[in-house]
Amino acid sequence: MKINDNYLKLKDSYLFSLIAQKVNEHTKTFPDKEIIRLGIGDVTLPLVPAIVDAMQKAVLEMGNANTFKGYGEEQGYSFLRKAICSYYDKKAVLLNEDEVFISDGAKSDLGNILDIFSIDNTVMIPDPVYPVYVDTNIMAGRRIIYINGNIENTFLSLPDEKIKADIIYLCSPNNPTGAVYNKDELKLWVDYALENKAVILFDSAYEIFIRDKKLPTSIYQIEGAKECAIEFCSLSKTAGFTGTRCAYTVIPHELIRNGIALNKLWLRRQTTKFNGVPYIVQRGAEAVFSDDGLSQIKDSIDYYLENARIIADTLIELNIWFTGGKNSPYIWLKCPDEMSSWDFFDFLLDKAGIVGTPGAGFGSNGEGFSRLSAFGSRENVIAATQRFKMFELKN
Ligand code: PLP
Repeated sequence: MKINDNYLKLKDSYLFSLIAQKVNEHTKTFPDKEIIRLGIGDVTLPLVPAIVDAMQKAVLEMGNANTFKGYGEEQGYSFLRKAICSYYDKKAVLLNEDEVFISDGAKSDLGNILDIFSIDNTVMIPDPVYPVYVDTNIMAGRRIIYINGNIENTFLSLPDEKIKADIIYLCSPNNPTGAVYNKDELKLWVDYALENKAVILFDSAYEIFIRDKKLPTSIYQIEGAKECAIEFCSLSKTAGFTGTRCAYTVIPHELIRNGIALNKLWLRRQTTKFNGVPYIVQRGAEAVFSDDGLSQIKDSIDYYLENARIIADTLIELNIWFTGGKNSPYIWLKCPDEMSSWDFFDFLLDKAGIVGTPGAGFGSNGEGFSRLSAFGSRENVIAATQRFKMFELKN
């Protein structure tokens, strides 16, 4: 018996536990000081009424012999896949229902999709990045090439013809940097992928935050993308489903490699290893895409975006370099006074009672940066920005 010793190559994921430990110590030492958490990547607003109503109705259906549901289709109920197709129609992206797969989370799908790719593929991952892309490939033993995000490219890496890869991860709007690709930039990636017969894994978990009509909210708004990209999206940030769990993955029929449609491989994988998302949750998810649902979640997203704007305006006033803060719930700032990510974390906590997330936790290019999130309450965001202004911070 041999274990998968690739797991031994993983770095300890100490980021959030170390943050919690430091915050606990701080609270013990200064029990009266109020802490403001701007580090959280979790939503705080509740599910909107349209979703709650739909789930309540579904609970009643499950308690009635005439409407009770047992196992559903592994790839999701048709009513939800249709609702997602109609959401894509509004983006001028036409999808067939069987190109949409429902799951319990984008995190699971992003990890599980690797089942359909050989371990001989080389993957290309931006740095800094959502750590799941890196760790799932280390677990499988794949070769990883990192591409640099930095101030010069505003954390939006572009393809380099000299660097070849088979699988490319892109996330826009980005976690952790909040940066968003425009259509021309995404077109460069699509052209690169088509040219190299690579596959783009496009994570659009934060697409709902895009308000600038010129920016793409789906990679399929780029010509040629259906032949080279899989799109992952989630209701976690879209509609507050972090605890309810529902996401979707799109694999267009046009995406063919080695003569095989990847859609077919994923369907085979899902029907073998996955048994679907609860009916009640899928009814709640369907309600997200109804007129009422979309208008109610817009109010929640508006609230987070306004928080982001308040933080961004403060950084502009203080002359601190940042990306994000627009079309995204994240603000990625350069730590003032050449501080390291953790030094700035300690500074913010000790001097201002604010908790951020050290950029170094998202990859080596994140060193010297910090991520703030807009998922807190308005009151806390305003209080935090007032505390920021008390210091002589500069880049
Ligand atoms: N992708 C990105 C970029 C994320 O930031 C997150 C969650 O924070 C996810 C995917 C995971 O989404 P889910 O809750 O659907 O698993």
